[in-house]
Amino acid sequence: MYGRGILKGLGVTLKRYWNTYWDDIVWLFQGKKRYNTAEGIAHRSSKDARGIFTIQFPEERLLLPEEARYLPFLVYDEKPDGEKEILCTSCGICAKVCPPQCIWIVRSNDPTTGRPIPEPTEFFIDADICMNCGFCSEFCPFDAIKMDHDFEIASYERNIYNMEKLLKPSSYYQSIRPQNFAREEAARKAKEAAKAAKAAAAASAPTA
Ligand code: SF4
Ligand code: SF4
Repeated sequence: MYGRGILKGLGVTLKRYWNTYWDDIVWLFQGKKRYNTAEGIAHRSSKDARGIFTIQFPEERLLLPEEARYLPFLVYDEKPDGEKEILCTSCGICAKVCPPQCIWIVRSNDPTTGRPIPEPTEFFIDADICMNCGFCSEFCPFDAIKMDHDFEIASYERNIYNMEKLLKPSSYYQSIRPQNFAREEAARKAKEAAKAAKAAAAASAPTA
């Protein structure tokens, strides 16, 4: 039959139109507000949201799923004395795999011996070129670079992020990606336990 596709399309539009008001009516009868409430934004951020709705940005923001990603950031551990322990070893893998080549790293050198130190002196990401692919984070062997949730980054300037701007504590990483953080911590602890067990076995082995 001619025009079947058009009728089907109109049916989809009509359903979306109906669902938009139906969701509002249901919430109204339940005595709840779909807009400007924490419950309402949680509902509109979920898979249960029906129809077409508006987000009153910036007063309202959709809740981001854990795997949402914008720009990368560098993770550091907070030591008890307040010092920052940067996890990056300046191995350069992230810069190599970055498709648009927007990462620059300057490795540190020992001032006396001139030998390389596994820590960056400088780390730059050209945020205007980054395509948010997440490869740097996927390939980093030290869990030192992660993808951020912060998307409100518009500016009138050229956006080349340096270490000062890129470094964020591991507690921040845990707050935006709790499941990833827990999985990585468990893997790290298991690795440390296996290493300790191996060392203990080697120490207790009889010498010839
Ligand atoms: S962020 Fe990771 S992959 Fe990139 S240089 Fe540092 S340790 Fe290597
Ligand atoms: S997210 Fe992708 S494009 Fe951006 S710095 Fe990482 S690898 Fe490069």
